[in-house]
Amino acid sequence: MAASTLSVMCGIVAYVGARPAKDVVLEGLRRLEYRGYDSAGIAVLDGEEVELRRKAGPLANLEELLAVSPLPSSGTGLGHTRWATHGAPTDDNAHPHLDCKNALAVIHNGVIENHATLRAQLLEAGHRFRSETDTEVVAHLLEDAFGQSGDLAQAMRDVCRMIDGSFSLVAVHRDAPGVVVGARRNSPLVVGVGDGEMFVASDVAAFISATRDALELGQDQVVCVTPSGAEVTTFDGTVVNGRRYHVDWDISAAEKGGYDYFMLKEIAEQPDAVAATLLGRLTHEGTLALDETRLDPRLLRDVDKIVVVACGSAYHAGLIAKYAIEHWAGLPCEVELASEFRYRDPILDKQSLVIAISQSGETLDTLMAVQHAKEMGARVLAICNVNGSTIPRASDAVLYTRAGPEIGVAATKSFVTQLVAVYLVALYLGQVRGTKFGDEVAEVVHELAATPEKVAQVLQTMEPVREIARQLASAPTVLFLGRHVGYPVALEGALKLKELAYMHAEGFAAGELKHGPIALIERGVPVVIVMPPPTGRAVLHSKLLANMQEVRARGAYTIVIAEEGDTAVEPYADELVRVPRVATLLQPIVSVIPLQVFASELAVARGNNVDRPRNLAKSVTVE
Ligand code: GLU
Repeated sequence: MAASTLSVMCGIVAYVGARPAKDVVLEGLRRLEYRGYDSAGIAVLDGEEVELRRKAGPLANLEELLAVSPLPSSGTGLGHTRWATHGAPTDDNAHPHLDCKNALAVIHNGVIENHATLRAQLLEAGHRFRSETDTEVVAHLLEDAFGQSGDLAQAMRDVCRMIDGSFSLVAVHRDAPGVVVGARRNSPLVVGVGDGEMFVASDVAAFISATRDALELGQDQVVCVTPSGAEVTTFDGTVVNGRRYHVDWDISAAEKGGYDYFMLKEIAEQPDAVAATLLGRLTHEGTLALDETRLDPRLLRDVDKIVVVACGSAYHAGLIAKYAIEHWAGLPCEVELASEFRYRDPILDKQSLVIAISQSGETLDTLMAVQHAKEMGARVLAICNVNGSTIPRASDAVLYTRAGPEIGVAATKSFVTQLVAVYLVALYLGQVRGTKFGDEVAEVVHELAATPEKVAQVLQTMEPVREIARQLASAPTVLFLGRHVGYPVALEGALKLKELAYMHAEGFAAGELKHGPIALIERGVPVVIVMPPPTGRAVLHSKLLANMQEVRARGAYTIVIAEEGDTAVEPYADELVRVPRVATLLQPIVSVIPLQVFASELAVARGNNVDRPRNLAKSVTVE
């Protein structure tokens, strides 16, 4: 998988200096709270002790605890706001995590892929575990490594060579007072260089009220900071020079990574979010490993029908799931709006598998649909982004997307990671049911592994899309056409435009044009056309090419999203947006990106608040 920075999760901040670490760290956590809010915790070194306070829920819960049980005022400490990936959002799973002797504390952002193997070895060696997180293995590995070298930076380097996955880690040890050690691979970590004080954090927002001098930590590097300086080494111990730079953002821009809106940052985070959702789920042998879902393969072999229930963008992800499930797993698949499903009389039994998709895991209609399905004896698999939320708890199995917190109301990275999740489930069904040969599964696995890079490529070429959006800022209506998996993409493109730009927009299956929608076409009406790959099902491509000519003959202004090298579209495209070549079924992962950028730019051009569109809430917990 492409090395990227999985910057989508959690907040980390550590401090060493003359001020009370507990106050500086808490202030930093407030600045980072948007990055994760499942739990928060702080540990400080106090002489011979590591003092720890942590609490599930938002930072306010930790603040309440600190008010009744204050931490000592020492100058070395670290804190964390969690975005849970492994283990429910409970007090015990909150970071920091300690070793068996309560001698060291560690915080972590990311996913330790080989945690299960390491945990088994550590248990065998007599270590005691107190949480369900993947992170805790690091505390015990550090305990052993520090026992050998007596040097925290050396111990961190030793441990980093043993763990796989994505991580930014920060640790303190009672026998290393005045020292904070950090490490990173595929996750962000930056050092703030103050005057007689130093910070280590997942982003600069945590410390720019104190210093604007920063030191960027490179991939696979360890940093050892003391109040007077920082030493950076590789995991092998070679000393390297970190890149020093000056931060000129204000605090609000820093929180948004330099973007004007969270949503724009979230659009940019999609390569990382996709990579995080794939992490540990594709094997080197080209198979899928989804044991974490608790989906029993025997049960999956007995399933005779799939019903997907969801609302909004998640429903569009569900529509795409249908194409993949039918094609790869050869199973009948229905897709239902949760709000309709729950008031109908759906026919389900214990051989039915219901897939419930919801970013928040709290969408009321979807939750009710899940309960209804369970009453009828069906098994339920949840696809959600928020760990430990209600829908996964009410379901038999869960596959978490790892998009990290999504602050913008309109779904972007959550939608794209839902697509990844439905592809994983559909292909897994094909794998366990034997409807796909091993080499066929491996081919798709290979394609999926390349998607973060493809998404990154699309994002690099979006300036012309922004330009088109600005030109169309006063258009009264925009229509979207697609076929096959491009049809739900058209629906999603129209939904984004409605919710962000408050414009009239509609998505159609292109084959339906002549059954009514073509009457809407008049001179100048912008029509966005999502072209299927010419090498996929050729007939789809030629049909859509014909539809494109039909609307153009009636005066439409065509904006065509087409694969690189698809020259057939050129004569009929007023505007042509290229996306990289991907397998036919996976195309929505890349083709939806220009539509997100289009809608957000139109919204900005029309003066709308992109993060908080009028009348909308992030998760719909009412009917
Ligand atoms: N995987 C770790 C956990 O679930 C860290 C998650 C995070 O980045 O907040 O606790």
